[in-house]
Amino acid sequence: MTRIARIEPIAIAYPDPNDFGTIRRTVLVRVETSDGVVGWGEAIAMWPEACKAVCTIITEGFLPLLAGKPADDIDGNWEAMRRHVFWYGEGGIASMAISGIDMALWDIRGKVAGKPLYALLGGLKQDRLLANASAHVNKKGEAACVAEVVGFFEAGFRSCKLGFAKKGESNIGGDPDTDVSFIRALRGALGDAAEILVDIGNGVRWDVETSISVGRRMQEYRIGWYEEPLYPTDDAGYMRMRAETTLTLASGEREFTEAGYRRQMEFVKAVDVYGVDPARVEGITGFRRVDALCTLHGKKINAHAWSTGITTAASLHCSLASPNAIIFEYKPFPVVVQDVIVAEKLWHRDGWAYPVTGPGLGIEVIEAEVRRIAA
Ligand SMILES: [Mg+2]
Repeated sequence: MTRIARIEPIAIAYPDPNDFGTIRRTVLVRVETSDGVVGWGEAIAMWPEACKAVCTIITEGFLPLLAGKPADDIDGNWEAMRRHVFWYGEGGIASMAISGIDMALWDIRGKVAGKPLYALLGGLKQDRLLANASAHVNKKGEAACVAEVVGFFEAGFRSCKLGFAKKGESNIGGDPDTDVSFIRALRGALGDAAEILVDIGNGVRWDVETSISVGRRMQEYRIGWYEEPLYPTDDAGYMRMRAETTLTLASGEREFTEAGYRRQMEFVKAVDVYGVDPARVEGITGFRRVDALCTLHGKKINAHAWSTGITTAASLHCSLASPNAIIFEYKPFPVVVQDVIVAEKLWHRDGWAYPVTGPGLGIEVIEAEVRRIAA
């Protein structure tokens, strides 16, 4: 029987042109079996101290727990990790650490079976997904910000998701009039067919009234969805937005567990599109459980893929194996963790995201390049 022999977390750091050159961090997880099969996963911890904590949980907690266990018992290993962290887990850094190992075990399962991950997840539910340029609005002045997004569409994208109040020279994500003006100008430049998704996010702290009023004004320019206009745990605020607007609301990328999403779907009942990150939500296993909840409640899902090619691959398989995904996000600018640490960059064709068909995650991780950016 193939057993888990080694588990190694590798923290990495790199400058990201998609985030105004900011140094971004994450933890990759390399799992090796007793017969030498290697799988890769990611725990998207991002902050330096969180990356350290994830590495510690994996090496001091999960490695002794899982060493020698059957690699193919993914459910058993996932349950063992969850039970191990019961006191400090149920979300947070522990969920990210679980994610990295679970993702790698699915990669191994696919490599052993000689099948792509989507085939292990019940097969393709969709042949392709609309390719979305997921970008931060960070250039100086409205004209430059509009021109940049127009460039994404000229390069073949059919959809864009625009993060507000990010690092850079833009003043988008503060003054409502400025933000609405930007969306108005962008709609004018792109024409009616282009999909514009607005991601307000953590950099903006509007009250509910402002969020509602800005959302309504942007609706005049036919935005597709309105993401995280309030802090993710502001349940009352989201319930008010649901009751008082017809906006398509997106949230969820900062949830960690199936229980968290269930609470949203069964009690808050405000969100239409749930963001889910397989490098955060307790792996492929966790993603699948949340996706099943979305099916049950008739909700849409959007995989967060905004980190390395490893998470992008996991998200792509999970999205195409789901009946609930509607777009697929790509970072529009070249970055080492998408272009260099994997042998073949995952990229859209003619504005569509298609499946990758190699075994497991379907990517070849270039280990020397990973170690070159180890932090
Ligand atoms: Mg977001």
